[in-house]
Amino acid sequence: MALDHHATDRSGHGAPLRIGILTSGGDAQGMNAAVRAVVRTAISRGAEVYAIYEGYQGMIDGGDRIRRFGWEDVGSILNKGGTTIGTFRSKEFRERSGRLRAARNLLLLGIDRIVVIGGDGSLSGLDLFRAEWPGLLAELVENGEIAPQIAEAHPTLMIAGLVGSIDNDLVGTDMTIGADSALHRIVDAIDALASTAASHQRSFVVEVMGRHCGYLALMSAIAGGCDYVLIPEHPPADGWEDRMCAELRRGRAAGRRDSIVIVAEGARDRAGNPITSEYVRQVIERELDEDTRVTILGHVQRGGVPSAFDRWASTWLGYTAAEELLAATPDSEANVIGIRGNRMSAIPLVEAVRQTREVAACIERADYEEAMALRGSSFTEMTKIFRELAEPSRVDASDCAKRIAIVHAGGLAPGMNTAARAAVRLGISRGHTMLGVRNGFHGLRDGEIEEMDWGTVEGWTADGGAELGVRRSVPKLDWLYSISRSLEEHRVDALLVIGGWNAYESAHLLYSERERYPSFTIPTVCVPASIDNNLPGSELSIGCDTALNVLVEAIDRLKLSGSATKRAFVVETMGRYCGYLALMSGLAGGAERVYLHEDGVQITDLVRDIAWLRESFAAGRRLFLAVRNENASENYTTDFMARLLREEGGDLFDVRQAVIGHIQQGGSPTPFDRLFATRLTSHAINLLGDELAAGTSKGYYVGLMGSKVGASPIAHMMEHMDKEFRRPLDQWWLALRDVSKAVAGEAH
Ligand code: ADP
Repeated sequence: MALDHHATDRSGHGAPLRIGILTSGGDAQGMNAAVRAVVRTAISRGAEVYAIYEGYQGMIDGGDRIRRFGWEDVGSILNKGGTTIGTFRSKEFRERSGRLRAARNLLLLGIDRIVVIGGDGSLSGLDLFRAEWPGLLAELVENGEIAPQIAEAHPTLMIAGLVGSIDNDLVGTDMTIGADSALHRIVDAIDALASTAASHQRSFVVEVMGRHCGYLALMSAIAGGCDYVLIPEHPPADGWEDRMCAELRRGRAAGRRDSIVIVAEGARDRAGNPITSEYVRQVIERELDEDTRVTILGHVQRGGVPSAFDRWASTWLGYTAAEELLAATPDSEANVIGIRGNRMSAIPLVEAVRQTREVAACIERADYEEAMALRGSSFTEMTKIFRELAEPSRVDASDCAKRIAIVHAGGLAPGMNTAARAAVRLGISRGHTMLGVRNGFHGLRDGEIEEMDWGTVEGWTADGGAELGVRRSVPKLDWLYSISRSLEEHRVDALLVIGGWNAYESAHLLYSERERYPSFTIPTVCVPASIDNNLPGSELSIGCDTALNVLVEAIDRLKLSGSATKRAFVVETMGRYCGYLALMSGLAGGAERVYLHEDGVQITDLVRDIAWLRESFAAGRRLFLAVRNENASENYTTDFMARLLREEGGDLFDVRQAVIGHIQQGGSPTPFDRLFATRLTSHAINLLGDELAAGTSKGYYVGLMGSKVGASPIAHMMEHMDKEFRRPLDQWWLALRDVSKAVAGEAH
């Protein structure tokens, strides 16, 4: 193991630093990934790690509930739901006497740094424990339970908190560990219910978790294409029952075959009375006079395999928590490590817990405006978007409505349909007439354009593929005249281009030919949709989360297929020259090596890797996984690498290669891709609306930068791109290479 430094105790004895880790409160998918990352990062840095079983109770009980962990103790847990080191709701830890025993047990092992993964309860308990630590030590010395030198060597408890909670209810992080996987479970259930509900023209009421937080309810309602949602932060005003039923009726009249209402378990009315799913069912059955069923999803939401996001983000969080704790001094601030805008962020633990509790307090005292404000602007924005998507308050365009055409181009990306649906419904709701162009720029050239109404896009949310059709071709110069004629004939006032690199190139071409073809001088906005995640102006593109989940599922299966033998896998991902899918699926799938075009592949690395691999299989390793981007190296192909391993592996292990291929483009879009498509499209329609209202015709490409959805001018599109390899010059996720190395294996 090549280590640049060994983390040692600052007491001057040269003893390694000791970190404790525990999971507490409600379990959440992704906790295991975080534990694995803390353990491996700490070991990579030369520290010792102790797993504390069964949460705070294990710390109080001591003995074999606190176990030194080695590298292999966290092998094969990345893909498991729940928490393998156990969790517990410990009453004893709420008492000072319990915390005294906990402090004693930690000190006996020389542990004065702990990572806790839990909800706001667990984190406030942690804060209290830290504040009391000096007093607990003094008492232990006084009672003669520990020696004064031990107390002197560990004067403070250094802590880092990670938020594990499926509710996504903690202020200070965009996503809590487990929330994305819970959304996967809920949206899968809604998709399944929608197909049976539509067959019988039935209504369903679905109850989801969330006592004080409507995140899961609201986001699953948007991602599931549902009709109505009830959340604690935004209770409906009196008379909501009639309004809800009127909305459901309008939805049916406009083309829906089913109605699905999502109720958060903590939903309430303005007077603070709970709204139960059974009550909602009765209202619908009575008013709509139709068969209505309730499905309470319950603990299924906590279970199952963690999503790709819950694996890579939790790995990154665990890595960061370990790094922060190893660098901590007694004066360091106690932080919660969260993820904000695709970056790690640390905020004071006390502040995070205080603000989180404030939301619940606001709901209790019926200050709903403040509760929504504390949830943040994108939560409020999504509430508004949901209403527009769900309710066909406006289905006929006025005579003076402007005409916006939607066109897809580039490779297929899951979520294109979701984006087109959002564009049609939001466009209509905002007063425009929406047109669909069939078959990309080919279709635009040939005039394959038709008007789309509210009902046309019913059911598109969950469908992978692209109903409008998509072509890779970029317009040739001799197409431009026909395209311009077609835009004129169909009186297209604005263009919404949803797609990948070729879509962007096409939009750029039309933009630069505006002088020659006046009909190109119309507001134009590009929305990034590509599994490759290689587009300018957006840190993520629609479809890449789905592709990543497909890859991770495939990797899980491959690993299982090889578990009975000694086997090395070389897995090839798509991505063109962008290594996003390879690196992130490597991180989320637990790969030992990742090969990217951004880094290139050197023969010296391969030779070193093989030497390590032979040693490691000889010492008992059973599985090795390398993930390789399809263009990582022109000559060291996937086939070459597999053959090289086979030749060099001899009898030690066998080798399989797996090119995952087009299934990466084919999945039903994940909740994240559906929500992201909806949010970006809403922004794009707003931009087009503003341009049309102002009588101007700027061109933009939209995207997510950090936490913000924004837009950049088309004219400057190519300035931020590596044109030879068709990827952005600046790629944020490359920072995760260090994380991958720390948790992956010992040859780095
Ligand atoms: P969550 O962490 O998921 O919010 P809980 O609120 O049940 O779950 O907290 C988990 C555990 O954290 C509790 O069982 C208890 O051991 C500890 N804990 C919570 N709040 C406190 C507190 N105020 N003081 C001490 N320990 C606490």
